[in-house]
Amino acid sequence: VAHTADAVVIGSGAFGGSVAFHLLQRGLRDVVLLDQHAIGSQTSPRAAGNSAQPRGHTLMAWIARDAVERFRRFSDETGEPLEYVESGSLALTWTAQGASLLAALHEVARESGLHTALIDASTARSLSPFINPDGATAILHTPSDLYLEPPQLPLAYARAVEKRGGTLLHHTAVTGLLRAGERVTGVVTERGEIHAPLVIDAAGGWARVVAEQAAVRVPLVPVRHQLLVTTPVEGLAPHHPITRFIDLNAYLRPSFGGVLLGAYEPRPLAFDAGSLHRDLDVGQLALDLPMLQGVASAIAPRFSPLADLTPQRVREVRGGLPTMTPDGFPLLGPVPGAEGLFVLSGCCVGGFSIAPSAGALLAGLVCDGTTPHDLSPLAIDRFGPDWDEAWLLDTCLWEYSHVYDLRGTA
Ligand SMILES: Cc1cc2nc3c(=O)[nH]c(=O)nc-3n(C[C@H](O)[C@H](O)[C@H](O)COP(=O)(O)OP(=O)(O)OC[C@H]3O[C@@H](n4cnc5c(N)ncnc54)[C@H](O)[C@@H]3O)c2cc1C
Repeated sequence: VAHTADAVVIGSGAFGGSVAFHLLQRGLRDVVLLDQHAIGSQTSPRAAGNSAQPRGHTLMAWIARDAVERFRRFSDETGEPLEYVESGSLALTWTAQGASLLAALHEVARESGLHTALIDASTARSLSPFINPDGATAILHTPSDLYLEPPQLPLAYARAVEKRGGTLLHHTAVTGLLRAGERVTGVVTERGEIHAPLVIDAAGGWARVVAEQAAVRVPLVPVRHQLLVTTPVEGLAPHHPITRFIDLNAYLRPSFGGVLLGAYEPRPLAFDAGSLHRDLDVGQLALDLPMLQGVASAIAPRFSPLADLTPQRVREVRGGLPTMTPDGFPLLGPVPGAEGLFVLSGCCVGGFSIAPSAGALLAGLVCDGTTPHDLSPLAIDRFGPDWDEAWLLDTCLWEYSHVYDLRGTA
């Protein structure tokens, strides 16, 4: 392996790929993007790939919207193809509480210049013929939301990195961080040391294991998240909107002629972030189809193609290890006490769709020390130094099962 670099990015998912690309865009020459598995092979390719621009917090609203603009100009900027569908999205609720939530999201969207509309049932039906919105207390339409099939994104970033002179190292695990006093000065890999003044920990579910090699605790919990895709449904078209059932913590969209359905169960399977084994391959995670079938039958009265979802009608079940944080915001920024080390993780099941913007923000911070917005809500040390593990687990699991609240996605 190379012995020196301008920067080493650990992890080639959507986050790491985007940071590496944007570091090269900003003029760094020698950027190494490495992964313990194949490039772009872990959680990112298993995402749903949906954008969600209405957010309860103006910073996250800005990032989500900036990312959509970057998806639109992705091929021009990177030279790599990327297919996406600007289907728009609907968020529906049948409760009074949900209606206030959607009204609040609509208000933040208005303030931040994102076009959304609170629409009636017949408009919703005209956008999505399978939806039964009878009795809904509110329906929020976001015409500019989009989706893409996820494996494309990390691979496109990796190709763009390589074409700009960066180095891709697959099947190369980082096993240690090099330190000189307060500074991190590079990485130890299974194939030798790489000395670099900048190291980015974008290791997804393993981000905490990596940071602990510099004696830093990163506040996140990897949580299994799953979806299924049905066999083709007659009449379902690619432009039919992403649809979020916020009372059921579930979402769906068209995918290869079928319905892609994902859900946030109340008691998700959490993993110990500090001891996640390097050899764990996200593709081998045990999955829970009955949980998803239960969600499908709860949604079926509102979306008929999900009625009687037998295993024969399920074409694919997939899952990954997104990382939750105690407040539902990602972790993006420098690591206090370890100069030269930066983290981009804590995706809160929304990292795929913000990756183009999050990577650009972190590259700006690394290269210029400045960003267009105050990023303190995303700081790694925002919970102070003294949080304990039980609190971390409780708050992260709560955030997972309330992901459609005001801070999160709707
Ligand atoms: C079913 C599902 C649906 C989802 N739907 C959406 C959605 O609709 N929209 C959305 O925005 N987000 C969605 N997400 C979340 C999204 O997948 C994540 O936010 C995003 O993929 C996180 O990317 P990442 O780069 O942090 O992680 P990853 O893609 O897991 O990349 C991290 C990489 O780091 C590597 N690594 C770890 N440790 C080391 C080491 N020591 N040395 C070298 N390499 C290392 C790993 O091998 C891995 O490849 C979904 C997730 C799932 C599972």
